[in-house]
Amino acid sequence: MAKKPAQKVLIVEDNALNMRLFSDLLEASGYETMQCVDGAKAVGLALESQPNLIIMDIQLPEVSGLDITRWLKDDERTAKIPVLAVTAFAMRTDEMLVREAGCEGYLSKPIQVRSFLQTVDELISKEAPV
Ligand code: MN
Repeated sequence: MAKKPAQKVLIVEDNALNMRLFSDLLEASGYETMQCVDGAKAVGLALESQPNLIIMDIQLPEVSGLDITRWLKDDERTAKIPVLAVTAFAMRTDEMLVREAGCEGYLSKPIQVRSFLQTVDELISKEAPV
């Protein structure tokens, strides 16, 4: 029986430790990961690779993860890819802002392993029902 191809997750994150943590957790769970440390390249990468999910750091040096998400959602070729925002801000307005930008999910850092993987699974299965 043919093995299902691995689901692809694009991780947009400028912090090396977080990038390592997210990709290790995802790969250990059977996902294929692509890493993007430069927010300006995220849209092009998403277009080209059509991942099943994008993990989006909101605090990036050149451009906000919120703006990247708006650009993705404005383009029909990437609009359907679910975006999971991760943010270090612990402000109450945060979740509202990420939802308004079009993110389908939201987690604050430091992430908790179980809810991180659970949220990833939920967003990916919503996108591609079996
Ligand atoms: Mn960051």
